[in-house]
Amino acid sequence: MAYETERNEMVAQQLMSRGIGDKRVLETFRDLPRHEFISGQTSSGAYADHPLSIGEGQTISQPYMVALMTECLRLEGNEKVLEIGTGSGYQAAVLGCLAAEVYSVERFQSLADKAQQVLDKIGFKNIKIKVGDGTLGWQEFAPYDAIVVTAGAPHTPVSLIKQLKNNGRLAIPVGGSLNQVLTVIEKKGKKLLPTEICGCVFVPLVGEEGWQKD
Ligand code: SAH
Repeated sequence: MAYETERNEMVAQQLMSRGIGDKRVLETFRDLPRHEFISGQTSSGAYADHPLSIGEGQTISQPYMVALMTECLRLEGNEKVLEIGTGSGYQAAVLGCLAAEVYSVERFQSLADKAQQVLDKIGFKNIKIKVGDGTLGWQEFAPYDAIVVTAGAPHTPVSLIKQLKNNGRLAIPVGGSLNQVLTVIEKKGKKLLPTEICGCVFVPLVGEEGWQKD
């Protein structure tokens, strides 16, 4: 398989060495052809330890950050997951390997189209993408067992909290426009239990319940 060595090295050097331990997450990173999601650049760079440009001024996150956010959701296989910020489609594909159904919202049509093509090519049948303002979630398929926001938000959108199931988990970078804190919020009845995971840098979440412009 193409780039198998690069993938194994990525998993050992970037994920396991930094504490990613969920076996299903590690297996997914070993299997999924990340280079397919990064067109127009040298594919070998796809497995490098940094974010990469994907067009429209947006980026695909560094592998470690995708793995960390995914691990925080504690997926077991039967979940319905919502992702905000489809971008290249790589995070959606990771979720598609680890959960039953994935719904992903992207604000740029061009990125959504490209992501859809790659996901079709690989053969995913459990991932749906739509173009729209993800700060409002995706009401049609709510509630979700887990939600992951892959763009930086000034605060957690209320719509996403509403669309999260009881006992569900929401991973979201919250903070300023230049850097944020990756936060995991657990919904326990009427209570929201936030845990701050680490500092991070994401492109802005732009929309009605996010930043007004990028
Ligand atoms: N998860 C992506 C990385 C995405 S970068 C991947 O695996 O490649 C963040 C993405 O969020 C960008 O594509 C950006 O266009 C998108 N975005 C920003 N604000 C948004 C919003 N309100 N709704 C949907 N997508 C949004």
